Order: sequence, then C-alpha cells, then structure tokens
Amino acid sequence: MNIKQAQKYVTTELADVYSNSELISIKRELLEYATGLNSAQQILADADYLTPEQVEKLAEQINQLKAGEPLQYILGQAYFYDRIFKVNKNVLIPRPETEELIEWIKEDSLNAKKNILDIGTGSGCIAIILNKIFHGATVYAIDVSADALQVAQDNAKEHDAKIEFIQADIFSYTSPEIQFDIIVSNPPYVPESEKEEMQTQVLHFEPHIALFVPNHNPLKFYTHITNFAIQYLKAGGELYFETHYLYASEVKKYMEQAGFVKVEIKKDLSGKDRMVKGIKK
Ligand code: SAM
Ligand code: GLN
Repeated sequence: MNIKQAQKYVTTELADVYSNSELISIKRELLEYATGLNSAQQILADADYLTPEQVEKLAEQINQLKAGEPLQYILGQAYFYDRIFKVNKNVLIPRPETEELIEWIKEDSLNAKKNILDIGTGSGCIAIILNKIFHGATVYAIDVSADALQVAQDNAKEHDAKIEFIQADIFSYTSPEIQFDIIVSNPPYVPESEKEEMQTQVLHFEPHIALFVPNHNPLKFYTHITNFAIQYLKAGGELYFETHYLYASEVKKYMEQAGFVKVEIKKDLSGKDRMVKGIKK
C-alpha cells in the first residue's frame, strides 16, 4: 500500500465516524506517525510504500479510532501551544481554550514574576508553558494524581522546564512559606449531569477525576481555590481560572465577595464565557 492508497484507506474506513475536516488532520497525523514524513513530505512522497508492519499498525489505530479512542491517546501525544506534549489516559488532553487562558496571562502580565502556582496540572501543559514565558519564575504544579504527575514530569524534562511538582489534594494542601505572584487553575468543572450529552471520546476515555464535579456543588474547586489564593497570593497577585461557560459569572461573584478586585470574565474563541481573572488587593 502506498501513501496515497493509505490516505484513501483511512478516509474510507473512518468516513462514518469523523467529519471531513477532522479526517484531514487524522490522516496527516496517522501517516506522519507511520512514516515519519510531515504533510508536505507526504504529498511529495505519495507513491512511497508503507511496510506490512506499518499497514498493520495503521489498521489497529483505525480500529481504536472507530471505538472512539481519541487520536491523542492512540499516538501518545497532543499539540499544545506549538509544542508536543506526551499524554496518556491518566491526563486530560490539553484543550485550545487552555491555550487561550495562557495567552491572557501572557498579555496581562507585564511585571517580572517570581512564584507561579498551577493547581491541577495534569499533563503539566500550563505550568510548562508559563515556565517558558516567565523565564526567571519558579513554577510550582500540584496534582492529586501520581500517575498524572508522572506524565507532567516527563513533559517537563522533554521541554527542559524546571517545575516544582507537588503531589497533593488541593482541599488539604497548605503552602508553608511561599507567596505567589500568579495562581492559575483549570480544575474539574463538568457537572455529573452533563455526562449524557458528552462525546464518547471524552466520557469513555478521559480521566473522570480531571473532568467531573458533583451536581450539588459544581463550584467546589473555585470556592476552595479562591479562598486558598486570598491566603497565598501576594498583594497585587493574580488568580486565573478556566471555567465552565455556565458558571463564569458565579465564579466572578464569589471572587469579588472574597476580596478580589478588577475581576473580569473572558470569552473563548467560540464566544463562550470561559475564563475569569482577579487581582488580590
Ligand atoms: N491543567 C491541565 C490542563 O489544563 O489540561 C489539566 C486540567 S484537568 C481539567 C484537572 C486536573 O486536576 C486533573 O489533572 C486532576 O487530576 C486534578 N485534580 C482533580 N482533583 C484534584 C484535587 N483534589 N487536588 C489536586 N488536583 C486535582
Ligand atoms: N473543557 C473540558 C471539556 O469540555 C473540561 C475540562 C475541565 O473540566 N476543566 O471536556
């Protein structure tokens, strides 16, 4: 089977499962994985042959995709902020909204930063990119999941980022002496009641500990982290959250009541309220 035939094979097999635009990138990434050729090279080498082993692997990956497994878990990697991050079933696949959150932090923060804390670091994507943006800063990253931290550590090594990883449950964690310039969190925020409407790819493959919060207390991470941040941010320090679009205004209200000023909501690229920021007086 040559590359052109392999492309056709992927399209035919997956046409019922994925949209045309999704298929274009799936095709490109699967064949890059198989052959090591990027998309331009694939076009130039469209008559090159895949080995029988490569074809066998491709067939297996197609079956995994048909079963709803996200491409990022199948390939073990995801793109985030122009870098490749290792991912597996123990970490959330980094989302474009989270890139927008980082962009907001970057635009807003003109002064030098000394200490930054990322709560619920997962793959480490936020902590690692912030370490690259704020060169002189020490970035701390917490997660309750040891398996997630293993992935985050691998990513930090791969991207040559110096991160202080802490395995802790944020509901019992206390920071002994550090006062932070920035605290950022993309915590779990999907109420259990939304499970029915979720895509198979997310619901059956991504870690539930990264996604879900109880219906009766969907803001539990936001209220706790806001109170934590009041205690551990410097005066003038900034708290940034990614939020569920339905709860951004409640998060804003809670932050204002807790003593944050200049609290703002920002929409994501699809026009949904997705991020909240405030400054500790
Ligand atoms: N920061 C990553 C990102 O933006 O892609 C992952 C965010 S994911 C939505 C939330 C993370 O919070 C998961 O990695 C999960 O393991 C972690 N987490 C869940 N409960 C926690 C807790 N009680 N304390 C600390 N981390 C927790
Ligand atoms: N944005 C993710 C989703 O919609 C949820 C991430 C989170 O809970 N923080 O699946």
